[in-house]
Amino acid sequence: MYSDVLLFIDGHWTKAAGGCTLPVVNPATGEPIGTVAHAEKADLDRALEAADKGFRQWRKVSAFDRAKIMRKAADLLRERADAIAPLLTLEQGKPLPEAKGETLAGADVIDWFAEEARRAYGRVIPARTAGVYQLVVKEPVGPVAAFTPWNFPINQVVRKLSCALAAGCSIIVKAPEETPASPAELIRCFADAGVPAGVVNLVYGVPAEISEYLIPHPIIRKMSFTGSTAVGKQLAAIAGAHMKRVTMEVGGHAPSIVFGDADVDLAAKLLATAKLRNAGQVCVSPTRLLVQKEVYSEFVGKFTEGVRAAKIGDGLEAGTQMGPMANPRRIAAMETFIGDAVQNGATLKTGGHRIGNKGNFFAPTVLIDVPKTARIMNEEPFGPVAVINPFRTFDEVVEEANRLPYGLAAYAYTRSAKTAQAIAASVETGMISINHHGLALPEVPFGGVKDSGYGSEGGSEALEAYLVTKFISQACL
Ligand code: NAD
Repeated sequence: MYSDVLLFIDGHWTKAAGGCTLPVVNPATGEPIGTVAHAEKADLDRALEAADKGFRQWRKVSAFDRAKIMRKAADLLRERADAIAPLLTLEQGKPLPEAKGETLAGADVIDWFAEEARRAYGRVIPARTAGVYQLVVKEPVGPVAAFTPWNFPINQVVRKLSCALAAGCSIIVKAPEETPASPAELIRCFADAGVPAGVVNLVYGVPAEISEYLIPHPIIRKMSFTGSTAVGKQLAAIAGAHMKRVTMEVGGHAPSIVFGDADVDLAAKLLATAKLRNAGQVCVSPTRLLVQKEVYSEFVGKFTEGVRAAKIGDGLEAGTQMGPMANPRRIAAMETFIGDAVQNGATLKTGGHRIGNKGNFFAPTVLIDVPKTARIMNEEPFGPVAVINPFRTFDEVVEEANRLPYGLAAYAYTRSAKTAQAIAASVETGMISINHHGLALPEVPFGGVKDSGYGSEGGSEALEAYLVTKFISQACL
């Protein structure tokens, strides 16, 4: 059911100009399942020309009519979710229900931005002189280059694509080579819904070659990237040198704080589920679990029990709760992080090893009492490994939560409204969810501060990033 994936340029599905392809591998088996077309410069030039043409046409379509086409794409995505989700699982590894959830959530994202575009209001500013009208209007920024990673192959594309189209921009998406089929099916929904040729273009290839060519190109007016902080900083520098608008959603290292008065059962259950979601390959995954002394050993016991009970297996098998990691690089990374933590004095409570020798399966891992010198306390692990450390006071936990340059998500558990308010005001992150996990809905802001990036991938803030402001002062003759 997995067919070879092509580029989509100027309304046509096409092979790369040079005929090059890259293999796509199933992370649950290590077996090749298909190929993806590998764009070169000639393909990028065609995509740029198409995006330029597409922008000129699409910006003239009213927000009302853009929304109609987008909502049709959302309906197609819902109708096709049962066919698309298995492709996502085959290429990325996550359990089928998670893949279906991601696909259906993508449709909600499209619907929300389609409607929000109809509310891209300007304003009228009272003039100093009679007969003068001072207007502020919002216009689309122009053709967009978007770079998206493999952990949420649909979700990461649909947020950028929906914002761009809603605002009246055209877009070139550089989707992930490791998981190309599900984003291609997303884009097929837009093509089938009637988005004009050239408005949406899709390429794959060597990420650095593509970004270094597209971002500085005069046709591109904005770029959006999701991935690691290190790569994000390189791309932001290129964008800065060429005065391009940027949205950056990069690394995280979420502090997850459990206060002594928390509902420990609830905290252990929700944090364990969140840690194993997508095998921990989530930028907002709970990473440093900081637990107040009074409930530390109770929490460690319940959390460890929770992750140990998870059913690990091929994402296509019924009942699987955690699939393989997306690629062998992640296995090597987990082994390095865990070895280093233990060498630094951490205690390994469970896991710490690969499962079998076929596919990229890794045991859910809990490390406790991990010194700050360990790499995992400072770098994003991006895998099913949780670190649990005790703390004594509110000030001590705030200091630890804010110690790192990351500032994406945080979580906290407490029964005290006063503590909840105080922790929300004290953590330096773009998002915090308290006593539940409630991030990433289309209508709420999604983004980080500090080294975790800037801009938002959700809420009306996300649309704003694809619009420019024009001031018009008009005297009536
Ligand atoms: P990586 O940093 O090489 O790649 C991460 C993503 O960025 C990939 O999709 C890749 O195609 C893209 N990329 C890399 N170099 C690029 C360039 N020069 N131009 C444009 N795109 C580029 O590493 P990786 O092994 O794929 O992932 C490792 C790390 O990336 C993880 O540990 C995690 O920190 C981060 N990551 C973050 C997210 C997220 O949702 N924020 C998603 C995937 C990966």
